[in-house]
Amino acid sequence: MKLGFTEAEEAFRVEAATWLTAALTGPFADVRGVTSLVEMPERRREWEKYLAASRWSCIGWPAQYGGRDATLAQQVIFAEEYARAGGPPRLNHLGIELIGPTILAYGTDEQKARFLPAIANGDHIWCQGYSEPGAGSDLGGVRTKAWREGGDWVIEGQKVWTSLAQFCDWIFVIARTDPESVGSKGLSFLLVPMDQDGVTVRNIVQMTGESEFNETFFDAARTDAANILGEPGQGWGVAMALLGFERGVSTLGQQMGFRNELDDLIEAARANGSAGDPVIRQKIAQAEIGLRLMRYGALRMLTASADGGSNPAAFTYKIQWANWRQSLGELAMEVLGQAGEISDAHGEYAFSRLPHLFLYSRADTIYGGTNEIQRNIIAERALGLPREARTRAK
Ligand SMILES: Cc1cc2nc3c(=O)[nH]c(=O)nc-3n(C[C@H](O)[C@H](O)[C@H](O)COP(=O)(O)OP(=O)(O)OC[C@H]3O[C@@H](n4cnc5c(N)ncnc54)[C@H](O)[C@@H]3O)c2cc1C
Repeated sequence: MKLGFTEAEEAFRVEAATWLTAALTGPFADVRGVTSLVEMPERRREWEKYLAASRWSCIGWPAQYGGRDATLAQQVIFAEEYARAGGPPRLNHLGIELIGPTILAYGTDEQKARFLPAIANGDHIWCQGYSEPGAGSDLGGVRTKAWREGGDWVIEGQKVWTSLAQFCDWIFVIARTDPESVGSKGLSFLLVPMDQDGVTVRNIVQMTGESEFNETFFDAARTDAANILGEPGQGWGVAMALLGFERGVSTLGQQMGFRNELDDLIEAARANGSAGDPVIRQKIAQAEIGLRLMRYGALRMLTASADGGSNPAAFTYKIQWANWRQSLGELAMEVLGQAGEISDAHGEYAFSRLPHLFLYSRADTIYGGTNEIQRNIIAERALGLPREARTRAK
């Protein structure tokens, strides 16, 4: 097991960092340091295209589809340097990290040729239509239905918590295509264009004051019959494979983002004098230790997968970072005191970075699998305990 990078990898780091710094202090200086998922969407779409023009958009993908065939280590290094340079959240995160790899794994040659270059170059921004009012953790409860009509699939139903749907060109949807089926059977995985009369997106206002996610309604929405990933009725396997891509190389880049947040918090504690408080100092030290432990844990996990092995400890990672960041948000509010409770704006409220972190981090233990679901996964898949009792017939 190696817990570091080779000289060649460090040279790649310099190349990536040099390019990113030039871009984010030059033509894209205005998006540097943006942390909100909804700020400056048009500029961030242009940023996607700018990254793609120099092949920095999705470096782990095959070169034939716009990538660089980058190794796992190179992808990790790029993610780290991206966060270090203050790169904004990727508008097409779901396209590049979730649906792109899934199309690579399950798509036909035609689907790969049609969709992958458009994702890589920022022409198609994607969102995820999994959750429904009655189906979040239990996706087998999906009620959105679809049926064949001529050369199309027709879709009826509602999704919820659809992040960034208001900016997206395409959505991937799990829909029930066998009306007699229950649970994970009889579902299909459809690729659906957003720009049509049958799709309505309605913002949900979050407690940060922003609307990152939405309700998405399908009212006889249509997509071409060819836009199905995998076989009809076999969508569950595709949907679960996609969730597997949610963990992975963005891990260490995400930690660089955490580093920036912890540094902000330390600066705030210095500025208002709370850095002199022994209890706050202890808590900051704990946060620092937690971050370093996560870094070594993630390096260990990535090394194991690069060596072709699997490491059951990887199952603990989501719960670990979600709890760590939620505590960081709480600590930020302790450091800021009453100042943290005051909004920046007159009229509509708006928060500066640390209070925003506190509010947003309440969601960290929900999306990407709630803490309770993660504990079930650890129990069953890592520790080999008996499966939890299920009440619904499959
Ligand atoms: C910021 C954010 C962005 C999101 N973006 C998207 C998106 O783009 N697309 C999308 O499809 N979805 C998205 N989601 C939805 C997210 O995936 C769901 O919220 C999540 O899967 C939980 O589902 P739920 O909200 O329906 O809660 P439920 O599944 O109803 O769970 C409610 C509570 O019960 C617990 N629970 C449920 N089942 C069990 C069990 N078997 N054992 C123990 N406890 C259990 C849960 O842990 C939770 O505490 C987003 C959510 C958030 C917060």
